[in-house]
Amino acid sequence: MNTNELWQAVLGELELSLSKANFTTWFKQTFISEVRENSVIVGVPNLFTKAWLEKKYAKEILQSLQDLTNGSVKQLTYRVETRSQNPQIVNISKPTPEPKVQSESYQPRTEYEPQEIRTGEFSLNNKYCFSAFIVGKQNELAHAAAQAVCAQPGGVYNPLFIYGGVGLGKTHLLQAVGNELIRKNPETRILYVTCERFTNDFITALKTNRMVEFKNRYRTVDVLLVDDIQFITGKEGTQEEFFHTFNQLYQNNKQIVISSDRPPKAIPALENRLVSRFECGMMADVGSPDFETRIAILETKCREKSYMMEREILHHVATVIQTNVRELEGALNKIIAFHQFKNIKPTAESVKPILSSFQPSNTRKSITPKQLILTVAGYFDVQIEDLLGQSRQKRLAFPRQIIMYIMREEMKASYPSIGTELGGRDHTTAMHAYEKISGCLETDEKLQHDLELIKQKLYAI
Ligand code: ADP
Ligand code: MG
Repeated sequence: MNTNELWQAVLGELELSLSKANFTTWFKQTFISEVRENSVIVGVPNLFTKAWLEKKYAKEILQSLQDLTNGSVKQLTYRVETRSQNPQIVNISKPTPEPKVQSESYQPRTEYEPQEIRTGEFSLNNKYCFSAFIVGKQNELAHAAAQAVCAQPGGVYNPLFIYGGVGLGKTHLLQAVGNELIRKNPETRILYVTCERFTNDFITALKTNRMVEFKNRYRTVDVLLVDDIQFITGKEGTQEEFFHTFNQLYQNNKQIVISSDRPPKAIPALENRLVSRFECGMMADVGSPDFETRIAILETKCREKSYMMEREILHHVATVIQTNVRELEGALNKIIAFHQFKNIKPTAESVKPILSSFQPSNTRKSITPKQLILTVAGYFDVQIEDLLGQSRQKRLAFPRQIIMYIMREEMKASYPSIGTELGGRDHTTAMHAYEKISGCLETDEKLQHDLELIKQKLYAI
């Protein structure tokens, strides 16, 4: 048995006694780095993992090593080492460039900027991979289906339609499929687009007489990943075009993966022929993570950032934030940033004010559309009548879009009712606003900050 096989055997035993999430979190990037007489040195990706393994799993791992080597291993140590430094590692997932942690203190390193994989003009973010995805009851079907798609693209799970609420990992899974297929075969032509992008491309192609190019681009790929298809509602021309794109790919056994915030039947004004296409493969939903999964996600994110946080605090965060992984991540990032800045350790007291803006909605003050409009008008210093009026000036259009976004995201209002509240606008305007603000929020820190302040005002007791 060589060292790789030995380590695989150890991991095999450990895997039986641990939850999958825990296992993935702590053992993903480990390997036997060196064997010196009776001592085994295990390579681990960072100091945090080292500390954790020493504290939690030292006995079990040593026991397992001893059993497997008839007692010849007597000692076990860990060393921070990345796999690229050690060529003989077997490991599960794709190596991500993981900078070495330099200092002994738990200084979180600056966040790793994921590099983009270029696929044609479009890009996948390699942060969204399977190994970074925590599986719980609420997403195991979608996760398994996504993996099955990777094992046999264009096979039985075609199309794969993943649906569920915001921030629950749909985009992550879609991109994980893309990343995994590229990893397996770098030649695979993968196209990841949001529905908005597809729509815009289509309109531009029409306007500029470039339909042939458009068709070439979309109909010749091996895998088409379309995110947030619900925004195709009411866009008849786009639906027609998408229908033909879909058929062409499908007939050629090309894989299609689609995400949506609701099942096909519930997308308003979606042509029947598209509904039946979307339903003919595999449909899988993602739901809100349960407590254990929330903890596992928090632990993983801490580990990724090499940040040490007491279990008690993690429990606290997972108790307050219940519905959405994006919020969970957001809260954690805020806690880390705040405590790093102050150079203190997070305590139950010190995280309280940060978590208060993430209170679950049932314990939150309920707000009315009027209060929301008043608050946003005050924040941007504009008149309510102007917000509800027809002017499209940017200074009004932007706050208006924020109101629509908050109504949808926080108050779970329907698009038609949002349109009505804002001076009788069309529901597609509300959808567009939601789509736009959601998109901007991913990168625009000023906007994130604005929203945070608005929410604080809104929920202030
Ligand atoms: P959606 O597309 O459903 O709105 P995203 O895929 O954008 O949600 O997920 C929001 C954030 O939460 C992303 O940073 C994503 O990586 C993270 N996330 C969601 N689900 C999981 C999970 N199961 N494990 C790890 N991270 C997750
Ligand atoms: Mg998404």
